[in-house]
Amino acid sequence: MDHVFGPVLSRRLGLSLGVDLLPLKTCSMDCSYCEIGSTTCLTTRRDRFVPEMRVLREIRSVCDQDFDFLTFAGSGEPTLHSGLGDIIRAAREMMDRPIAVITNSSLLTSPAVRREVASADLVLPSLDAASQDVFEQIDRPAPGLLIGDIIEGLKSFRTEFGGEIWLEVMLVKGVNETDAERIAKAAEEISPDRLQLNTVVRPPSEPVLPLSQDEMLDMLEVFPDAEIIPDWDWQVPPAAEAQILSLLNQGATVEDLSAGTELSCSDLMKYLKILEAEKKITRSSLDGRLFFFAKI
Ligand code: SF4
Repeated sequence: MDHVFGPVLSRRLGLSLGVDLLPLKTCSMDCSYCEIGSTTCLTTRRDRFVPEMRVLREIRSVCDQDFDFLTFAGSGEPTLHSGLGDIIRAAREMMDRPIAVITNSSLLTSPAVRREVASADLVLPSLDAASQDVFEQIDRPAPGLLIGDIIEGLKSFRTEFGGEIWLEVMLVKGVNETDAERIAKAAEEISPDRLQLNTVVRPPSEPVLPLSQDEMLDMLEVFPDAEIIPDWDWQVPPAAEAQILSLLNQGATVEDLSAGTELSCSDLMKYLKILEAEKKITRSSLDGRLFFFAKI
């Protein structure tokens, strides 16, 4: 499949079936921390980058699998696809699972784009700066993008959209910490349902640095209503690992594991992600459900 990937375990979204509407890597920004590499097509011009019918065929072929969200994200900025609204509406006809859009917020300045994105159930926009110089340093936007306009777009979107907005702030050491108070003020005005602080976790292509755990905790004083989402401190406690691996001898879903242990689905997802990275478990989709197996 070219446009649908996963389901992948996502700490923010649980089991997420991804939809990628763009050729790698097409974006309106070239963020210094981007984990999928440098932007080769830096643009704010919307287009039908990939054929909608092909995307919808792929979604139809996997939509009875086990997942929590159908998530538009991937090789760039999904709102650059000018058929986004049509694709979301058609996908909704095929399945009863909620639809999420991860966006860098840049095109939410446009009422037409806001209307399309509002077809989703959950929108996860990002805001990494509140002043133009920091915006240009951290996100390296396409010419013409102004952070003041983007903040206004986010505020308008809040008033127009009845679903949930989870606003993400990516913090990069020595780059946007100085803008934190202004970002916090803008976030308060945007009034998202959740405010999530992140820092560099997966190795980006450039040498940017994460905030330490203590520095992230200090940021909670600037963003008192925020939650912290990075996974740099994730470790599987030995007792939990033994429990999980013994239940995975026969194979189990996240729900089976949750029923057979004291662990929440959210903790299980992060633990499974680590065990998978450590090659201690594998996954397989059976009858549309995602099973995990211990490696022998
Ligand atoms: S907006 Fe997202 S995809 Fe685009 S450069 Fe930034 S992190 Fe990468």
